[in-house]
Amino acid sequence: MKYISTRGGIDPIDFSDSVMMGLATDGGLILPENIPTVSEDTLKHWARLPYQDLALEVMKLFASDISEELLEDLIKRSYSTFDHAEVTPVVEFGDLYILELFHGPTYAFKDVALQFLGNLFSHLLSQKGSFMNILGATSGDTGSAAIYGVKGKDNIDIFILHPHGRVSPIQALQMTTVEDENVFNLAIEGNFDDCQTVVKTIFNDLDFKNTYRLGAVNSINWARVLAQVVYYIYAALKLREAGTEDPIHFSVPTGNFGDIFAGFVAREITGDLIGRLILATNENNILTRFVLEGRYQKGKVVPTLSPSMDIQVASNFERYLYYLFGRDGKIVKLTMDEFSRTGIITIDKEQLCLVRKTFSSASINQDETVDTIRRFYKRYSYVIDPHTAVGVAAAQRLRAELPPGPIVCLATAHPAKFPGAVRKAIGREPQRPYGLQGLEGKKQRYKVLPPNVDEVKKYIKSVGLKDL
Ligand SMILES: *Cc1c(COP(=O)(O)O)cnc(C)c1O
Repeated sequence: MKYISTRGGIDPIDFSDSVMMGLATDGGLILPENIPTVSEDTLKHWARLPYQDLALEVMKLFASDISEELLEDLIKRSYSTFDHAEVTPVVEFGDLYILELFHGPTYAFKDVALQFLGNLFSHLLSQKGSFMNILGATSGDTGSAAIYGVKGKDNIDIFILHPHGRVSPIQALQMTTVEDENVFNLAIEGNFDDCQTVVKTIFNDLDFKNTYRLGAVNSINWARVLAQVVYYIYAALKLREAGTEDPIHFSVPTGNFGDIFAGFVAREITGDLIGRLILATNENNILTRFVLEGRYQKGKVVPTLSPSMDIQVASNFERYLYYLFGRDGKIVKLTMDEFSRTGIITIDKEQLCLVRKTFSSASINQDETVDTIRRFYKRYSYVIDPHTAVGVAAAQRLRAELPPGPIVCLATAHPAKFPGAVRKAIGREPQRPYGLQGLEGKKQRYKVLPPNVDEVKKYIKSVGLKDL
């Protein structure tokens, strides 16, 4: 399998090189040249596999330049850090299913991808006797998951920008209390989009990128999307095995469009197995407006109870546009150039029809979010986090307009990461799992910086170039 750019400006490269490249050198995002589809027989076989074995089957379709033994070893190690034998178990609640994606070391779904990516990076680097500075922006969960993916690895340093004071206290502590010397936290005086803009700008400075051997871990890295594809297929096959014949819908709390794009890829691979993807947003609903009106227009970021979705420009959206625009990199490039000038993308009626065959969407406000946590708890004695609640509320609202079929709601974080929102809903904070206990007593390490490219570069220069 070879990899290309959404903007058509790079020669096809191997999986390993694409992992190392992060953002494509033409400013686009990396995608596989094609998405393989599998037969019903293959799906039947896959349905009986444990999570790790399924991951191997799915990933080897895309990572053909990595040996199967090695891939198997990477997968085993990556998911041995999870506290559930099934890695991502599916739990039934009345007419909904919850796919628990929070059993990794930082209690959010991002561990599924970042435990794998950390091990993959480290392996590829040691093969070359090389070193990397990881640079990324986080609205909360990515940062800690990325840090836990690479902490202590001796061929990687990691620099994570987070919006100062705008991630939940626990999320900040998860990042800043890590003691490993290869971890650098930058608290940026701005919002998440500011952090992301700084990171993108630095990556576009190819001289700097090469000199400092920068690599990305945010959701633009294809290997992350790939790792996330697995749990959609895993969950859908579980329900299929249990006797469901209808297509299985997924409700996905969405920010950067990374997770739901993995759902799109899973849907392509498996034919009719997966039905509609519900794109659930909070008040930052640029993507909902796109699905409903065919207009992708940047608004202002408003802080909500689901901060990991407080995003306006969705960094993975361009990947979907590539398919929507008939896999024509030239059109994607023109569209993205225009978007950076005007801040708007509009699509025509036919394209909107296509969008709505795949996606349904709803935007859920904060009152509805709190109310959903409360109702779910009352009914099932099960606490969901505010991101998950956005997905559950969207599923409940849209159920009537979907084709028949069960809905799986992605539980993207453990509720204990967002105690404030949970307290509002049920009057008490959720019990903290073992790994989140005692964080407040630990020593913190972070550096406060303005949202300024040069300041961030200066900091990386001052600490980040190791002797090779
Ligand atoms: C990152 C995150 C999301 C959004 O996922 P995207 O891939 O950015 O769409 C939703 N919920 C939680 C808890 C997250 O950490």
